[in-house]
Parts: sequence; C-alpha cells; structure tokens
Amino acid sequence: MAQVPPVNQQLQLKISGVVQGVGFRPFVARLARRYHLNGLVRNDNGQVFIEAAGLETDLASFRESLVKEAPAGASISRIERLPRPDRIGRMPGNRSGFTIAESAAAGQGPVLPPPDVAVCDDCLYELDQPGNPRYRNPFISCTSCGPRFSIMADLPYDRENTTMADFPMCSLCAAQYGEIADRRFHAQTVCCNDCGPVLSYFDRGPNRAAGQAAVDAVIAVLQDGRIAAIKGIGGYHLACSPFLDETVLRLRAMKGRENKPFAVMFPSLETIKQYSQVSQAEAVLLQSPERPIVLVERAGGAFSGAVCGSSRFIGAFLPYTPIQHLILRQTGPLIMTSANQSDLPMIHEEDSMLAFFRQQKDLSGVLTHNRRILRRLDDSVIAVAAGGPQFIRRARGYVPLPLTMPAGAPPGPAILACGAQQKSTFCLAGGDLLYPSGEIGDLGSRETAAVYRDTIQDMEHILGVTPEKIVCDLHPRYESTRYAMAAGLPVLKVQHHFAHIASVMAETGLTEPVIGVAFDGTGYGGDGTVWGGEFLIASPDGFKRVGHLKPYRLLGADDAVRQGWKTAACLLHDAGILSHSDMDPAPEQLIYAALDAQVNTIVSSSMGRIFDAVSSMLNICRTAGYEGQCAVELEHAAAQYAAAAAMPMDQADPLAFGLHMESGMILADLIPCLRQISADREAGQDPGLLALRFHKTVCRMILDVCRMIRTTSHLNHVALSGGVFQNRILLDHVVPALENAGFTVYTNRRVSPGDGGIALGQAYIGRFAGAEKQGGFNDVHSSTGTAD
Ligand code: ZN
Ligand code: FE
Repeated sequence: MAQVPPVNQQLQLKISGVVQGVGFRPFVARLARRYHLNGLVRNDNGQVFIEAAGLETDLASFRESLVKEAPAGASISRIERLPRPDRIGRMPGNRSGFTIAESAAAGQGPVLPPPDVAVCDDCLYELDQPGNPRYRNPFISCTSCGPRFSIMADLPYDRENTTMADFPMCSLCAAQYGEIADRRFHAQTVCCNDCGPVLSYFDRGPNRAAGQAAVDAVIAVLQDGRIAAIKGIGGYHLACSPFLDETVLRLRAMKGRENKPFAVMFPSLETIKQYSQVSQAEAVLLQSPERPIVLVERAGGAFSGAVCGSSRFIGAFLPYTPIQHLILRQTGPLIMTSANQSDLPMIHEEDSMLAFFRQQKDLSGVLTHNRRILRRLDDSVIAVAAGGPQFIRRARGYVPLPLTMPAGAPPGPAILACGAQQKSTFCLAGGDLLYPSGEIGDLGSRETAAVYRDTIQDMEHILGVTPEKIVCDLHPRYESTRYAMAAGLPVLKVQHHFAHIASVMAETGLTEPVIGVAFDGTGYGGDGTVWGGEFLIASPDGFKRVGHLKPYRLLGADDAVRQGWKTAACLLHDAGILSHSDMDPAPEQLIYAALDAQVNTIVSSSMGRIFDAVSSMLNICRTAGYEGQCAVELEHAAAQYAAAAAMPMDQADPLAFGLHMESGMILADLIPCLRQISADREAGQDPGLLALRFHKTVCRMILDVCRMIRTTSHLNHVALSGGVFQNRILLDHVVPALENAGFTVYTNRRVSPGDGGIALGQAYIGRFAGAEKQGGFNDVHSSTGTAD
C-alpha cells in the first residue's frame, strides 16, 4: 500500500459554476493525485464539494490549478472555502487516496446543467486511429466533449438521467468509465464500436443501411447533388451542396424559404478562409467548444448565388459532431439548415422526421440514429461587432448557462419572464441566477407557441425554479403576454424598450441609471402608439422616456411591416413629397388617400421602419422576403460603397435632421434627411453613397441626443440595444463615436440585442421591482401601465 503522505493541512471547498457534466470531478481527482492529496470530491446540489488533505504547498498548487487548468466547457463562478473547525477530526487526513463520491441528493441549491460541447481534438485523433476501439465511431466522446443538455432528462448529470441510459456499457467502456486516470472517467456519454447508439440511413427504398454503410449512403447522395437530412445534437439538419443552383433552389422550396441566407458548414477553418475573410476573434469563436455559426465577410468563392444572395456575410460554422466530421471530410462544404419549414419548430424526433420525409419528395434520404434528443436546440448565430461577440441567435452550446445577478442586488422571488413575440425567448430567475432560454421562434405560429409552453415547463423542471411572479411585455396581443396573464401568478408588465435596455444592464450587472438608446422595429409604447426609436433614462427599477424619433403616421395593415415601399410612401407623404422617381405612383396615391382619411393608420416612432423606407426609396430592397431584409440590404449597400470608394464612414457627410425640445422631450426628426435623400437621388447621387450617409446621420443623431441628455442628467453611461443595433456598420461607428465624446458604452454581448434579449431584461427588472410591486408600470415618474 502506498505510503500516506505527511499531513499538515486540510481543506474543504465548494465550487460553483458550470461544474457538472464537463469532467470536473475526474479533473479534480487527477489534480489531487498529482499533488499527493487524500480526500474526496462529489457533486452537491449543482456545486462541486471537495475535501482534501496534504502538504500546505501542494494544497496551494492544487487550488491554483483548479482554476488554471479547468476542463473545456467548465466555468467556475465562485470557489468558497468552508470553515469547519468542528469537523477537523473527521477530515480526510485519515483517508487514504482520493475518491469520487456519489452525488449528494438533489436539493434546493442552484443547479447548473451543462450545455452541449463539440467533439474535442483528442477524440478526433482517436476517430482516425485504426485499431482504436472507437475508430470511426460516430458517437465518440469523453468527459470534456459530447452532447449534454440536449440529452438530459434530469439532474444530476449522470448517465441514468440521460438518453445514454438506453445503452449499457460494454466491459471496456465500463472499465474506462471507472478508471480515474482515464480521460473517459465518469464520461456519461461513453460508448464504443461494441456498445452504444447505432447509425441508420433510410431512403425511398425498403431497407435501412446501418453503421458505416449508412454514412457512405448519405455521402453518396450529397455528392450526387441531392438533399439529405442528418441528425445532429439539437435536431435534424437538411444538408446539400452549396455549389449547385438547382439543388439550393429545391432546398428553398422544401423549406418555404425564399431568400434568407443559409448557413454553410465547412470541413476546416482553412476551407472557410478560402471563401471569406476571418478575423482572429471570428476564428476563436468558430473553433470554440460551443461551435456557433459565425457571420464572416465573404471573399471570392464559387457558391451558388442562391445560398446568401446579396449579403456580404456568410454564416459559416465547423463540424461539432463526429458524424459531421466523417461526412464533411468527403463532401466538402455543405449547407446545413435546420430541418423544418420556415416559421415551424426544428424537427428533433424520428417520427416527425419520417412524416416530413414522406411529404418532401426532394428529400432523398435521412441519416438518423437511436440516441434520443430530448431538447430541441437550434445552432447559435454570432457576429463580431464593435470589437466583441454579438448574438444573433443564442441557443445550442450556450443554453442553459445562466448570468449572475450583481452582488448586493435585493433577494427576490423566483421569476418567469415571458419575453416578446418574434424571436421569442423566456428567462427564469432563481436565487442569484438568471437563465435565458434558447430562441424558440415566432409565437405567431400555433406549433411554435406550443413549443414555447412546453419549453417553459421543461426548463422550470430541470432548473428547479418554480416561479412566484411573472414578467411580460405591455403588448396585449403578444402570445407571451397571454401566457403570462393565464398563469395565475402576480404579473408585472414591462415596456418593451425598457426591457431592451435592461438586458444590457443585466449582462453587466449595472444598477446605476444609464442613458438607454433602444432602436428597433416595433414595441408597444403604452401610450397607444408604436415605439421604436427611443431615448430613455433607465435604471433597474424604472425608466423615463426623455427623447424619441418624431412620430409619423403609418398604414397599420399587418403586411406593411415587410413592405418597405409602403413605409416609404407614408414618410414621403409626411415630408410633403408627392413624387419620387423610384416609387410606383399608382399604389402611392392610394396610400396617400388612406393616410389623409386616417383609415387603419398607426402612429409610430420606429427607427427600424425608417431603415426599411430608405432602402425602398433608394430602390435597394422594396419588399422584405424575410424579417428585416430591407434594412439588411441597405446596410450591405452602404458597406459595399464604403469599401469600393475607400470611404470610411468618418468621411461621409451626414444628411440633415432636426432636434427639438417639446414639453421636456427631445424629438429627433428624420424627415429633413428623407427629403434630402429624395432630392439627392433625383439629382443622380449613388444609392450606396446615400445609404452610407444615412447611416452616418443616424450615428450623428444618437451622439447629439446623448450629449443633450448628458447636459441635464449628468449621466455618462450609454446602453445601446434593440434589433437596429445588429446593423454592424452602425454599431462599429457609433460605439467609438460615443467613446470619443467621453461616454462609457455598453452593448449586448451575452444575449441578442433583438427581441431574443427582451426576456433577460424583463427578469432583471422583475428582480429589482421586488415581490410587492404588481400590475403595470412603465415609467419611474408616471406609473401608467396599460394592462388590458
Ligand atoms: Zn472528447
Ligand atoms: Fe424590440
């Protein structure tokens, strides 16, 4: 028996953060052996509990290495040393060796289930070693990689609580699972070529292919220019070659997706670089264990024009499952898009996939397997903007990681924040943690609304959060508001743009008042008008609207949101311009008549709609095929002009705009800008240049208004949020402009600035509003919530 080392120190630690399901306990055990410590490690209510005894210097090194060498996917938020003098006598100095003890029973503590992790380099190495028991195994994984949240039924994250419970381990896997020195020690997803899930492939024929034959079959179909479905981590993808126009168009028809760009998965970072420019920050994100889709700038490349149209970006990502690696190596780049029809939830169960397959004659085959997916998770989408990451969609790889409330925040009730309507998410708050859900989609569809309700139930269960209070939007017709009102709990209604700004405050733990600039397409204002170009003074316990775009009258028809040209006609009417050569005069006259008669019109201060209108006025995009397309193409036109003319935005001249004070409110008037665009366009100025000058105008207006607000409020912190700030040239320019003027600027880095971030902001506000405050409030100075 090994000699027991001399003991002069003992230590008990509690570690919080993402420490379950990421190989943390085996990692601790290996470290303890390195430093000759005795003791134990165990999961305890979502934390990891360590008792260790050994030489003082060894214990110090051990503690340091815990942080420095923590496994990929782990995220330590706190290490607490427990003072337990009364138990010193029973401390592990008397133990011999270091053990991994059973998990303590689930209790009331904060529990952090791990997100899904991409296959690691060590496993990829083994994948290619002939003779390895996992040679070419499509499910190879270890303690630091593999599916997690998508296959968990319950906590703690142990094999019997995952869908891997369906697969008893063979003797080899069981031995590695039990061997402390092995990198598969307590790896819940461990399996090999003799045990574990199996692949199968079906097509229109009567037989299923299995194993390697299944992989070969799907590769053959893809190489033949046809479309196949492939089971991934959070659901099925539809895959096909991005090089063939006809194939891509058939995929568009299958999805009912006219022109929204598709993401492309590439076999390696080197291949991505053949088609695009990749910055260092983008490369880091692309290769991160979360493996998001990253929007990178296109450069050259021979993809079909139907993949991403006129976008200057391509949504690129790298394989994150062994199956994807095995396929992509043979096929090269593939479009990989979630298997579903547009606006419906992603398919994640084999039965639904079979039904979809029967309907879609252009779908040639399905590569599936028998490891069940319990939770749908779309691929996450990120851009690098203003020097940092910006979520377009936060889902796989990040969910269910929480954010922490700032120290000193009031203890509050458990909260469910219901989010918005499109890009719906919700957020649970329990203890000092805020858990934003993944993006669920547009609650306008019955199927998506059902998924929304189910996902709330599921997350409440697995996170152990039972809401005592609900927060929702002011909009009476949001499905999320209806859910909130039907829940039978105290409801707090929070104004949409206040929630946008609060999402930034929640990310950084801001509690002091800030100047909030919230620009988006639409949000219920609570005063009967539609807001969307808002300047607020906001703190977690309330806000005051101090400025906004000068409101204009719009046609209220539902389809008007995608008809940029209708918005343009309304604004030109406001500007007193009766003809503009890029407009179609006949429908325009009808719109003018409707506006004059005020038939079905709304009043709005939306900034997003002005971007749409300018895009239409410049004949860049008159009708959006997907949400926001007019504005996106306006941004591309401006960026392309800037690149071609070597004119950075600094050198572009802003257009005219007005700033007025009206009963204490700053009104920013963009009508002069639209008049100038119309006149300069008539005079033959390049639409790309005008697009660039329009962006510059918006930046200048933000800067001027923030300065005005600073003069009276003496506030120096600015928070920018709302979907308009997904415009990269706007954000890249306005952040340094504000910083040069002495402001400290905060933007969304951990949730989307679009409506996907609303729920986090709502939860944050809910926590500060306390349990006693109910009903509507939307302004610190006038509590005039309009709950219907
Ligand atoms: Zn691995
Ligand atoms: Fe919004």
